[in-house]
Amino acid sequence: MQWHTLAASDVAHETKTNVKTGLTAAEAEKRLRQFGYNELAEGKKESAIVVFFRQFQDFMVLVLLLATVISAFLGEYVDAVAIVVIVIMNAILGFIQERRAEKSLAALKRLSAPQAVVLRGGEWVKVPARELVVGDVVRLASGDRVGADVRLIEAAGLEIEESALTGESVPVAKSAAPLRTAQASLGDLHNMAFMGTLVTRGNGIGIVIATGMKTAMGQIATMLEEADAGATPLQRRLEQLGKILLVVALALTAMVVAVGVVQGHDVYEMFLAGVSLAVAAIPEGLPAIVTVVLALGVQRMIKRNAIVRKLPAVETLGCASVICSDKTGTMTENMMTVTQVWAGGRTFAVSGVGFDMAGEFSERGRAVDPTRVPEIARLLTMAVLCNRSELKEENGRRYVDGDPTEGALLVAAAKAGLAKGMVWREYTVEQEFPFDSERKMMTVIVRDRNGRRLVVTKGAPDVLLERADRLEWNGREQVLTPAWKETIEKAIRQMASSALRTIAVAYRPLAETERIVSEKEAETKLRFLGVAGMIDPPRPEVKQAVARCKEAGMKTVMITGDHVLTATAIAKQLGVLPPGGKVMDGTTLSKLSVDELERAVDDIYVFARVAPEHKLKIVNALKRRGHIVAMTGDGVNDAPALKAADIGVAMGRSGTEVAKEAASLVLLDDNFATIEAAIEEGRNIYENIRKFIRYLLASNVGEILVMLFAMLLALPLPLVPIQILWVNLVTDGLPAMALGLDRPEENVMKRPPRRPDEGVFARGLGWKIISRGVLIGAVTLAAFLTAYERSGEDLVYAQTAAFATLVLAQLIHVFDCRCDRSIFDRSPFGNMYLVAAVAVSLALLLVVIYYPPLAAVFHTKPLAAVDWLLIVGLSALPTFLFAGSFRARK
Ligand code: ATP
Repeated sequence: MQWHTLAASDVAHETKTNVKTGLTAAEAEKRLRQFGYNELAEGKKESAIVVFFRQFQDFMVLVLLLATVISAFLGEYVDAVAIVVIVIMNAILGFIQERRAEKSLAALKRLSAPQAVVLRGGEWVKVPARELVVGDVVRLASGDRVGADVRLIEAAGLEIEESALTGESVPVAKSAAPLRTAQASLGDLHNMAFMGTLVTRGNGIGIVIATGMKTAMGQIATMLEEADAGATPLQRRLEQLGKILLVVALALTAMVVAVGVVQGHDVYEMFLAGVSLAVAAIPEGLPAIVTVVLALGVQRMIKRNAIVRKLPAVETLGCASVICSDKTGTMTENMMTVTQVWAGGRTFAVSGVGFDMAGEFSERGRAVDPTRVPEIARLLTMAVLCNRSELKEENGRRYVDGDPTEGALLVAAAKAGLAKGMVWREYTVEQEFPFDSERKMMTVIVRDRNGRRLVVTKGAPDVLLERADRLEWNGREQVLTPAWKETIEKAIRQMASSALRTIAVAYRPLAETERIVSEKEAETKLRFLGVAGMIDPPRPEVKQAVARCKEAGMKTVMITGDHVLTATAIAKQLGVLPPGGKVMDGTTLSKLSVDELERAVDDIYVFARVAPEHKLKIVNALKRRGHIVAMTGDGVNDAPALKAADIGVAMGRSGTEVAKEAASLVLLDDNFATIEAAIEEGRNIYENIRKFIRYLLASNVGEILVMLFAMLLALPLPLVPIQILWVNLVTDGLPAMALGLDRPEENVMKRPPRRPDEGVFARGLGWKIISRGVLIGAVTLAAFLTAYERSGEDLVYAQTAAFATLVLAQLIHVFDCRCDRSIFDRSPFGNMYLVAAVAVSLALLLVVIYYPPLAAVFHTKPLAAVDWLLIVGLSALPTFLFAGSFRARK
């Protein structure tokens, strides 16, 4: 089908749709069922069975299985079966963990899947782009990634970057008119928009003509840029560490075996013990558990409204030292209300709250009838004309469909008796130049009933003043003299310094014959009408979040397109701007080189009247100062800064697809406080990973050392292979997982950010692992020796005592691992998963000692009460020996 040559009505006819109301929900669903989801074919997924069998791939596990086969041949059936059962249980645990991590990452991917705005049953709604069907009427706006192949039927300043498809990175201007040539290459189809391309400017409406693999993108079948699922720096570091630990563990195990053989132990017995020890001591699962903990942490973040798009960001979050945040909507409510209007040299106050229509105009405390003041009527009429937004009501609550700034103007106009519908009865729109943060203006060209044409512009007052040469005063036109300018600027300053966001309106009559091609031609020689000042209250939770960030050693920087004085006033209210802190405006910023900015940047807390491109410069300057920078953004032009920042943060509600794709974190509620929450979780996840590394490695050191000590002292084996494997599975596995779920320690947001180059064993962790590990080994051996002696050299009895001590010592030590400083800092019941895991491990220990059939398998014997006392005492030693010393040192 040559869609590009058809008229819009024919496209609608062919796709059996209605351009005014779109498809009905039922019809869309029918088509979805019939033609399938709008997705590109994906690579095959690994099946569950493959994932399960991969758990056995580990070299040492294979050696263990081989050894088991040998022991079966030697007649040790019970041992062989028990070992196989344990290996399978281990594999199941690994399998469950891997699946869980995979699932939560897949859920995450779904959450950050692209959306499309589509007309269904006469209403514009947001749906996941994969649910688009042929015939859907879709709206495209700057920052969107086009969801399917679309024939445009409306386009206002629409430009699309199609490099994903054509390789051409310069955006193409689009229009709705049919093309004449049937044969045209993809790059020439100016009235089409293709799946996967980027809207860089303007907006438009189109009809979906192809979805999924039928799109141009589907035909070349390249995948769109995926959310990064690569390994995190920590995972990579741990993988490396794992290799070192593997060598160390193997060397030590070999030593145990060698010494044992030299001391006269049976070679086969030592071989099996050695292999079991190697399986237990090699932390091969470390990177896998890290993935699980990261995935679980990411789920916790979702509960707090933060979606992580790139896993490495979880770690980087904990290192953030500067948060650069947009003001409007992130630090403030984005619930604009016009409270002041300056027009014709007079200032009026406007009462009312939020988007509620009730409110009056007054001047110096005296009520004014706005319909009697032509300046107000002119200003607000024009503000309604140059306006893309709409006031809507849902469940008795009024909201703005569109830009809240424009919504506030609509409300103010309604308060002056100028409802949108009424105003628009007199006018039709000819052309539109949408608002962008670069120009800080928006313009429409309209025609009234009598055929008179007007350019109507609204935008930042200081910018508009530059483009105006006249003003309207007392119904008459005046030259905008420097004196007038001074008066207007004073009014703007007065509004801005009381934290009002200001917006000015101007217009110009246009001759019938005058053709306007660019916004530059439109936005000139304007007649200045006046300024509206609107409040945008700070979000109540932000002040506290800023304070908490400060406590956590992080600086908050406000970046806004608003007036310097508006920004300053709000920054002061929120505690962003400390006494002596500096404010810089965009003009000054443009003049500085990155070097100069780098020198100055540490003192600056607010950047005002900046354009999106400035954000990149700010990020670079901060990074050069050695900071780890989080930067928020929502528009297309923010994407480079979001990519350059260590942590790009996009807005989930108001953000564009492009910004979300560039970001590593998406805020579901657009709220600054959520960044702070995410950072807290990020720090906590890292600490949790450290906690279980500490626990696992200390346990492994203990396990190896008890065997090594025994061999060096020419003692019998203190633990049999099946016991070692048991400790590895039950005692190490469950509590370590529970540690990964631990809640943050109280001081996690009271210390400075972690340095990104900090090693895994930093801050005393290495010492803790070695010292506790050595002690766990020592007390286990002590229990073994004492029991051996007291029982009249009953080896099974002594091994049971050693086994119980090893398990118990670890289960006590795990509570110490929760605490950065001292075990007395936290209640042991703060993590109920851990309490449960420890209880289960304990109960299972008792079962394998006291349940005779299992006791036979595990080579254990019931222990005397006195010996239990000894075991408990010895087990507590590794943890409590140091608990006091930390207090003393502090
Ligand atoms: P941030 O979210 O970074 O704080 P901002 O909302 O403060 O950004 P912009 O949206 O770029 O900044 O707005 C800058 C200025 O442009 C505003 O102070 C206002 O004067 C003007 N402006 C904002 N929205 C519109 C609009 N829809 N039409 C015309 N002018 C606008």
